[in-house]
Amino acid sequence: MNNQELAEAARAAAEHSYSPYSNFRVGAVVVGGNGEIVTGANVENAAYPSSNCAEATAINTAAAQGIRKIETVAVACIDADDVEGAYSCGRCRQIMSEFDVERLIVTAGDGSEIREHTLEELLPHRFSL
Ligand code: ZN
Repeated sequence: MNNQELAEAARAAAEHSYSPYSNFRVGAVVVGGNGEIVTGANVENAAYPSSNCAEATAINTAAAQGIRKIETVAVACIDADDVEGAYSCGRCRQIMSEFDVERLIVTAGDGSEIREHTLEELLPHRFSL
């Protein structure tokens, strides 16, 4: 999938968001090292810290399916007006680091702007064992 297709798939995944508290729908698409595709969405909880980001949902689902290498994560916040409000949080960046994510695709709102980054750009000097 090219970046446009990944962004559209992430936007579609965001439609499955469970976000009654923030009304901030986020979707994510993971592309595994062998081309596997796994989607996720943010899942909120009345006990807010029990909520899960879309990227974490998708990556952890992929890992639970046996995927150990993730090449790309695409994330879309369809309720964010600006792509600057669509970037992954620090926790998700660390989760991406565990599976050596190479690139991130970020889009927001109507998907008209699509940005691409390496994980190295977004999480330099990252923690690993
Ligand atoms: Zn996050």
